[in-house]
Amino acid sequence: MIKLNCQKNEFLLNRLIDGELSSDDSRDVSEHIKNCAVCRQQAVQMQQLSDHLSLLTFPEPNRDFFQSTLSVYRARIIKTTLLEWWCGLGIGLRAATCCIVILGFALGIYLGNIHDQYQQTHIYNPEDVYIAAFEPGEGALP
Ligand SMILES: [Zn+2]
Repeated sequence: MIKLNCQKNEFLLNRLIDGELSSDDSRDVSEHIKNCAVCRQQAVQMQQLSDHLSLLTFPEPNRDFFQSTLSVYRARIIKTTLLEWWCGLGIGLRAATCCIVILGFALGIYLGNIHDQYQQTHIYNPEDVYIAAFEPGEGALP
């Protein structure tokens, strides 16, 4: 059994009332409460508060509330323009976006050049392609 101080007991007492303590910890808290009048008083008050809170009922919002909230939310989403999105970004995200767009263009130009070079150096005779595709064993692509 671990001897609890009042601060540790208070932490465990909250968990005990919420039903989250192991049996060993529950026994330690009960033992401390027996010997400490301050913590015993606190335990009684916390249990009373928990009991009162459990009696509260939470009203359900009516269906009109959901519908009006949802329609306002949808209206805000639809009205968001690209300019508003851009203005909402910080300077770091704007710089990152510009870099990504520029890199995308550069990559596109690079890949386009590679494709052009490949087409210029690899010109196939349509007859060879036909033989390779439809008459196996007769030929292969150069
Ligand atoms: Zn105590």
